[in-house]
Amino acid sequence: MFKKPVTEAYPNAPKVTAPRFHGRHQLNRHPDGLEKCVGCELCAWACPADAILVEGAQNTEEERFSPGERYGRVYEINYLRCILCGLCIEACPTRALTMTNEFELADDSREALIYEKKDLLAPLLPGMEQPPHPMRLGNDERDYYMAEAAAPPRPEGAVYNAGHPKGSSGSFFNRKEAG
Ligand code: SF4
Ligand code: SF4
Repeated sequence: MFKKPVTEAYPNAPKVTAPRFHGRHQLNRHPDGLEKCVGCELCAWACPADAILVEGAQNTEEERFSPGERYGRVYEINYLRCILCGLCIEACPTRALTMTNEFELADDSREALIYEKKDLLAPLLPGMEQPPHPMRLGNDERDYYMAEAAAPPRPEGAVYNAGHPKGSSGSFFNRKEAG
């Protein structure tokens, strides 16, 4: 009653969300570019809306996508079903899956609202390399994770992808962590 009225100018001006707003998901990477997802399907089992499809596959030394034994070969989120509750990111054991602040998800076709792995993967940051490739941080998993723990912190869960290929232009939302 005694507060000044707040006028939102959206969509002409960016809408600022709460820092931990649950927006579009993102699949994160390790510092060398390998994927954090191990294809365990725990996110899909946790989802009350049956919105996630995961199919895991085995890494090989010739074709490695993640540092562990397995990786997520197929990963899809159906935003026609998703209620952005965040239970999937709570279930993820590797912090592979986080949520961004991006909320402009409306579209005019059903196909466009099914986000595939290529739409959800975080882009490569400096120092990262497009998988498949060998583990660059250590010769075995122990060395790899020790080296990762010693590395400077990275903006995990950041909205890296302004100008995202799906949905909105993303231009307002290349801001920060929401995971
Ligand atoms: S946010 Fe909720 S509804 Fe959406 S995919 Fe995750 S668990 Fe399912
Ligand atoms: S995103 Fe996380 S919970 Fe889902 S399959 Fe990948 S590692 Fe498992």
